[in-house]
Order: sequence, then C-alpha cells, then structure tokens
Amino acid sequence: MIGHPVAHSLSPAIHAAAFAATGLDWTFVAFDVAPADGPLAVDAMRRLGIAGMSVTTPHKESVISALDELTPAARALGAVNCISWNGERLVGDNTDGDGLLLSLRHDLAIDVAGRRCAVLGAGGAARSVIAALVAAGADDVVVVNRSHDRAVTAAAVGGARARVGTAADVEAASLVINATTVGMGTPDRPDASMPISPDTVHAGAFAVDLVYHPLETPWLAALRSRGVDASNGLGMLVGQAALAFRRWTSLDAPYDAMSAAAAESLHREARRA
Ligand code: NAP
Repeated sequence: MIGHPVAHSLSPAIHAAAFAATGLDWTFVAFDVAPADGPLAVDAMRRLGIAGMSVTTPHKESVISALDELTPAARALGAVNCISWNGERLVGDNTDGDGLLLSLRHDLAIDVAGRRCAVLGAGGAARSVIAALVAAGADDVVVVNRSHDRAVTAAAVGGARARVGTAADVEAASLVINATTVGMGTPDRPDASMPISPDTVHAGAFAVDLVYHPLETPWLAALRSRGVDASNGLGMLVGQAALAFRRWTSLDAPYDAMSAAAAESLHREARRA
C-alpha cells in the first residue's frame, strides 16, 4: 500500500487477517510515499514483482501515468485505489464505491437497486460512490455539496440517473451517504459540525457516514438518537479491501475476519489515544 500519511492505516491489519484466514503466506506493508513519488512506487512494484498494491491519498490520480491499463471505473473517475496484474500488465481499478455496496449487502442486506439515494459531497469518495450506485441500479442519485460547480462535475459521473439536488431531495431519499470530510476528527480535535441537518434525513431512511475516525460522528449520533438506522465508514474500508484481496489472490475474501480485524485495531487505537 502507498499513501501519505499511512501510519494509522487499518489496511495492514485487515489484510493480515485475510491472509491468516486463508492460509496465504503473504505480507501487506504500508509505505509512506512522498506526494510526488506515486508513479515511482508503481515502477518499484513492477520491478520487484509485488503481487498487488492499494493506493490512497494523495496518490490516487498520479499513479495512473505509470499503469498499463485502467478499468472502466478507474478511467471514468480518473482515480485508482487498487493495482493488480493482468499477465505482465499493471491494471488500475477504483473499488471504493463498490466496496461500500459490498458492505451494505453483506453487513445489512441492503440492495441499492431501485432506491432514491442522496450523496453529500463531491470529492473522490463521493464520485466513486455515485458511479457505483448508478451502476448497481439506484433509481435517482442526488448530489448535495458545498461548492455547486463540484457538485455538477460529480453528478456528471452518474450520467442520466444522477443530478445536483437540494435538502428537499435528501428528505425524499431512502439512502443518504455522507461523503464529505465533515465530522472527521482526532481525540484532541473533534469536529462537531455536520454535513447537513440530521432532521433532513427521513426516519425510515438508512444513512451511512463514510468517516470512521471517529467511529461515531456527531451527525451519526444525532441520526441514531432520532431512530434512523445508520452505519459508519468502516464497512466501506473493509469492502474495498475484500475486493482487492479477491483481485490479487483470485480467492473469495474472508470478509468477516477482515471486518473483525478492522474493528479490533480501531478500538485498540482508540484505547491508546
Ligand atoms: P475530498 O476529495 O477532499 O472531498 C471532500 C468533500 O468534503 C468535498 O465535497 C468538500 O466540499 C466537502 N467538504 C469539506 N469541508 C467541508 C465543510 N466544512 N462543509 C461542507 N463540505 C465540506 O475527500 P474524499 O477523498 O472524497 O473523502 C471524503 C470523506 O470520505 C473523508 O471523510 C474520507 O475519510 C472518507 N472516505 C472513507 C473511505 C472509507 O473506506 N470509509 C474511503 C474514502 C474516503 P467542496 O467540494 O465544497 O470543497
């Protein structure tokens, strides 16, 4: 894995659990790679014959120049979070959005087909989620974002079934996803702000906050206190790791072992803080 910073990444623990559960003698290492060096790290992967690579901020766009192929999802989004081999060629994929949908299906038996969805935010995570929702048959995907121009660009990723929306559209949605950075914080600097008023989310809707630091953002807590079913971003992290594991090993991912490892290392980190 490459990123900057990566010191607190949960991915090594998640993949270690997957290798242990499947009996693979593999190792997953997080490398802190300087912002300008993403393509060099991909060249190193090629020369060293590393079997697979996860890519996180700030390298998701820059690694593209060092790859041989992109999947349609990575090409449409202009961002890569998973690199694998196709014979001698390195292929970049974007599995963040599909990772979220996998976790919704696996953990909560939620199928997005036919649902009205609202995505708060228009950055890389939001775009990946919008593309995955549309590809999985969501009925109507509205994008609500602080900057209107970025909302327009993000909605365009979803084609005819995605559009820029308003708070009224959020009220009508049965799945509401916070893909902004609002609510992210550290124990010393908690963020008390919310991406949209919790009252905007219908009581019968399901909400997901992609943030998992902290595990319960103020928005998630407020929604739950109103009786709205809601989950944090840990599922998406595990989902994209499960898709990467399958891509690299051609084995079914041991999802439950990966999920347990993610929760355990996050709680361990929280106790240390
Ligand atoms: P990004 O590209 O930087 O986008 C940030 C988004 O947040 C933009 O839409 C931005 O709005 C909005 N925003 C930032 N500050 C705001 C504020 N004060 N008020 C309203 N909107 C604000 O970030 P990203 O990579 O998409 O990540 C977004 C979130 O998803 C992060 O919390 C990240 O941790 C999470 N994430 C989780 C996973 C997972 O596996 N669970 C994976 C990827 C990302 P503007 O466009 O107006 O600037």
